[in-house]
Amino acid sequence: MRVRLLAIALLLAAASADAQPPAYQPGIDVLDYTIAIELPDTGAFIRGDVIVTLRRSRNVDHLTLDLVDALMVRSVEVDGRAVTAPHTANKISVPLSGAAENVKVRVRYEGMVSDGLIARKDAKGRWTWFGDNWPNRARQWLPTVDHPSDKATVSWHVRMPLGRSVVANGLQVSTRPIAGQPRKVESIWKESRPIATYLMVIGAGPLERFPLTETVCHRTDEGPCALQSVWVMPENKTWLPGVFTTAGPIVSLFEKLVGPFPYEKLAHVQSSTRFGGMENASAIFYDGKLFDTQKMSDGLIAHETAHQWFGDAVTEREWGHLWLSEGFATYFAALWTLSSKGDAAYRAEMAAIRKQVLADKVVAERPVIDTAQTDYLALLNANSYQKGGYILYMLHQQMGDSAFFGGIRSYYARYRNGNALSDDLRAELEEASRLDLKPFFDQWLRRPGVAEPTIGWAYDASEGRISVRVLQQDARCISMAAAVVCEGNKTLPYALSLPIVITDATGTTVRLTVEIPADQRVTMPLPGRYARQPRAVAIDPDERLLARIARL
Ligand SMILES: [Zn+2]
Repeated sequence: MRVRLLAIALLLAAASADAQPPAYQPGIDVLDYTIAIELPDTGAFIRGDVIVTLRRSRNVDHLTLDLVDALMVRSVEVDGRAVTAPHTANKISVPLSGAAENVKVRVRYEGMVSDGLIARKDAKGRWTWFGDNWPNRARQWLPTVDHPSDKATVSWHVRMPLGRSVVANGLQVSTRPIAGQPRKVESIWKESRPIATYLMVIGAGPLERFPLTETVCHRTDEGPCALQSVWVMPENKTWLPGVFTTAGPIVSLFEKLVGPFPYEKLAHVQSSTRFGGMENASAIFYDGKLFDTQKMSDGLIAHETAHQWFGDAVTEREWGHLWLSEGFATYFAALWTLSSKGDAAYRAEMAAIRKQVLADKVVAERPVIDTAQTDYLALLNANSYQKGGYILYMLHQQMGDSAFFGGIRSYYARYRNGNALSDDLRAELEEASRLDLKPFFDQWLRRPGVAEPTIGWAYDASEGRISVRVLQQDARCISMAAAVVCEGNKTLPYALSLPIVITDATGTTVRLTVEIPADQRVTMPLPGRYARQPRAVAIDPDERLLARIARL
């Protein structure tokens, strides 16, 4: 038994820090993708011509590009020289031996795309093409190092029939005729900040741009202002700006809380993404039906806009740390609620999120930082979103505005345009608060479930003192001889910041927060003396804790 308990403790110790995971492709760093895509009049047949500019370590002698086998590779060049590059098992293996440290690899390919770029005819018979890459579907139409840890700048050269428009990451450089092809145009866009492949998109079709003129220019580091716009099918232009009047104030709020907006512009696009909204860098794609039915909400706009800072500018290095993206978007959407609708609405939103977390099966079974999950779509769960968001809420409550946002701002400043793991966030929050947050991060992010304490209180008339008793022992624990044996690691006690409201014999109330250490049995005398038995002692009366509390 003792051996087993020790083994559990060792396992926890080993799992309680972010081990630097092996790189997706060691020794390869893609710097830029220059992507030329030729779209058809109708249908899903595309031609691609992609130049991948990368830096390699000297000992690395090949590059692996992810690209599905369904697309036919026509040619591969390394620094202008044709090479033989096998394309099997959805990967192109490009030989680099003899090439310089900085290399340009060019891939020409073509074929029918069935995913990643969604080619579709709508109910009115109009063809549209929308990139939809999350999590690793860029490889369905683009030869890339398809992992969030390798961010790069991207330029788009989209060739298509006249009469269509294109929106993509970054700024529009030009739209120009193509020599010898009078019925076609080329639209060029350029994103100058490195972004993950899952955020690299184009949208093409009979889209119309609606400028959000009421949105003032937002600060960017390099000077030019970031303007917002909405891109929709023509019939939806009539009700704009509608709820998009909130788009400006949302960006202003997050700039105030976190730092400058990270990109050159922000487009809100009616699209055919499979998600309700997809936070593609500087070009948010929303489910098209939300426009057709006018069901778009400011909460969704706030969530996707928050991602521009968290997920897009600061990107989780590994999928298992997805809460750094979705938990932040969830919580910052609630901060928009606080700013726009007030404290009661914010508390109600967090209470609803708490309820979801407590009821969720995945939360009970898996930790938030879930490096064992290889089905990335399964990570779109209540751990990454609701529990991650609620953890930020608890941190905010414990740390206060100044330390919490101070830590968030330095985290953003340090990892912007790069990648981070959960411990990188922890280090910045610790620096700002001077707190040791390792126990907090371990218990909430690296263990399944929530706290399940049993709590009671007692009044000692002779001393005039109130004390609370907290027991944390799971039903799955059994007493055997001298030891208590528990299954798994769910039964470890949590350190809790326990809110208590005392109503004394005269009806006066006292609010306090008691720090309960992570022990199985705690008896904690409360400050103050009470001549008579209090009328009531309420434990976490506003239900702030992520805990299922039983009464003793
Ligand atoms: Zn999200």
